Parts: sequence; C-alpha cells; structure tokens
Amino acid sequence: MLTVNSIKNGIVIDHIKAGLGIKIFKILELDKINSAVCLLMNVQSKKLGKKDIIKIENVVDIDFTILGILDPNITINVIKDEVIVEKKKLKLPERVENILRCKNPRCVTSIEKYIDQVFYLVDSKKGEYRCMYCDEIYALSEV
Ligand SMILES: [Zn+2]
Repeated sequence: MLTVNSIKNGIVIDHIKAGLGIKIFKILELDKINSAVCLLMNVQSKKLGKKDIIKIENVVDIDFTILGILDPNITINVIKDEVIVEKKKLKLPERVENILRCKNPRCVTSIEKYIDQVFYLVDSKKGEYRCMYCDEIYALSEV
C-alpha cells in the first residue's frame, strides 16, 4: 500500500470523501501542473470507510480555500523530507467568488450573467452563505 512517506516533499490531501477526489483533481486543475500528482481512490479508512487521497509532489502554493466548501473534513498535510511539517485544517472561506450560484431568479446575477457571484459566510456551523446582491441564503447542505 502507498503511504504518505512515498513522497519526499509536497502536499497530501487526505480524508477526501470517496468519489470526490476526481472532482477536486479537476477543480484544482491538477492535470495542468508540472509536478508529479497521484490520485488514490477508495483507500480503506477507519474514519470514513473509504476515502480518496491526492498527493502532489513539490508544490505548496495552491489555493485550497475551495475545498472547505466541498468537504470541510478534508485534511491537508505539507510534507518536507518525508515528514509532515504542517497539517492544515480546512474551514469555510469568509467570501466565495464564482463557486456558488444564487438561486433567486430575480437576483441581478441571475439576470446579468457577466456579474461575479459573490457570497459571504453568515453561519459557519450550518454552512450558510448570503448572496452579496440580494441577501438570498445559500446552504451548503443543499448542494
Ligand atoms: Zn442573489
């Protein structure tokens, strides 16, 4: 079995809900980076039953903010010289742009497609966001 230690320097995105790995791979555009990347699917996990893992070699400057919206249980380990030097816990971003779509048909963003979709976090426990333009609430649990 592959372990965290199999990369010397880089990032391991762990505890991804099984099946979500490929989506994250696409969202982070990992197919476009030059480093070695590996996506492990359906790895046995005590916590989740099955999970996906993504390992990226030698890259540290990736914006992981979006992962907090997809699945806040994901953990990000930064590996240096085969040792985990940092564990990043994801949290919901305060402001999200062009990720969530407002469901209010009368919202300006529904009418004018070129306007950026901007949401602000209003309740991190419930995962609720508010549209900047029309105050419509968007709950992540509805995704
Ligand atoms: Zn709106």
